[in-house]
Amino acid sequence: ASTHYYRPTKAIIDVGAIKENIKALRNYLREETAIIAVVKADGYGHGIVEIARAALQSGAAMVSVATPDEAVYLRENGITSEILVMAPSPVSFAKKAAELGVAVTVTDEAWLREIQHEQKSFNEKLKIHVKIDCGMGRIGVRDEQELQTIMQLIEKMTHCELDGVFTHFPCADEECSITTKEQSERFVRFVNLFPKKPRIVHASNSAATLLYPEYGFDAVRFGISMYGIAPSDYVQENLPFQLKKSLSIESELSFVKKLAKDYHIGYGATYKTSSEEWIGTIPMGYADGLKRGLRGQEVLINGKRMPIVGTICMDQCMVKLPEEMPVGEKVVFIGKQGDEEITIEEWADRIGTIPYEIAVSFTSRVPRVYQ
Ligand code: PLP
Repeated sequence: ASTHYYRPTKAIIDVGAIKENIKALRNYLREETAIIAVVKADGYGHGIVEIARAALQSGAAMVSVATPDEAVYLRENGITSEILVMAPSPVSFAKKAAELGVAVTVTDEAWLREIQHEQKSFNEKLKIHVKIDCGMGRIGVRDEQELQTIMQLIEKMTHCELDGVFTHFPCADEECSITTKEQSERFVRFVNLFPKKPRIVHASNSAATLLYPEYGFDAVRFGISMYGIAPSDYVQENLPFQLKKSLSIESELSFVKKLAKDYHIGYGATYKTSSEEWIGTIPMGYADGLKRGLRGQEVLINGKRMPIVGTICMDQCMVKLPEEMPVGEKVVFIGKQGDEEITIEEWADRIGTIPYEIAVSFTSRVPRVYQ
């Protein structure tokens, strides 16, 4: 890929911040609890390979992804650590997973029965993590009898090995700790059914990792907070250590003009100047991840907040300036400038979503630059 970009719109990733978040977590966790860095969805938009590398360099023991293709991509790009695919994989991936040393997730007996027929062709042993559904209602084993059958099946398979058992908490980021407690207890009941404890028992996402260290087990799956973002306001208010933000989105003014009073701006003429106004244009639009619903959101120029006016276009947007400014002036969409900061959380609040969705919505057209 090219490392030179003519368009000034960029995502700047502070790799040092990611490393500091991992190190701070390492200090916070019990020594026997390992860190699994969650790098699915292109490292939550930050770049899967670069983030996996940074996390592994700074204290993460392994990485996890959501899809088989993400795991293959990591291997093809030199990540040699343990990798877990946390969602169900098609049976057709099993042989490849074994060859690549990628652990897969078992969610039901039927999948395992299919693998049973195939496993003799595996060149290496397939590593398996069993997923328990203890209240998320998404994937996993809910029935103790089914778990017994799964354990017996794995036991008989010569080319598969049980490596882990895990669950996922749906409500650890909200003020309902009782639910997480109950779910953890249910999980432990399932874990105790194994005649021998699997090598890695893991349950916690970022919220549970930060708020309930008592459910750390052998490893935690640390996603959003590795990127410096709290999973929710509730977690933000109860953080055990400071998180460092790692993503900034920056661009430059590409066009600046003074408009007369009553001049309309953008598609649908949704904004009209109320007096003579300086209006700047910025090369960032909804095809880059600046969602149309963010109209009215402020950007930072010269350390001051200025509003996006008119509808956001596919590739560009307009901003109301307090005075004439030069083309090429730096614009910060997400990040700090002077004493001001605009966060992913601010965007999320504005359009009624969660920071996760904003982080993953910057498109591949926005180059990721690592610092
Ligand atoms: N574990 C599983 C199974 C997940 O699906 C996710 C992400 O949603 C995570 C861990 C990481 O969660 P978080 O980003 O909240 O840390």
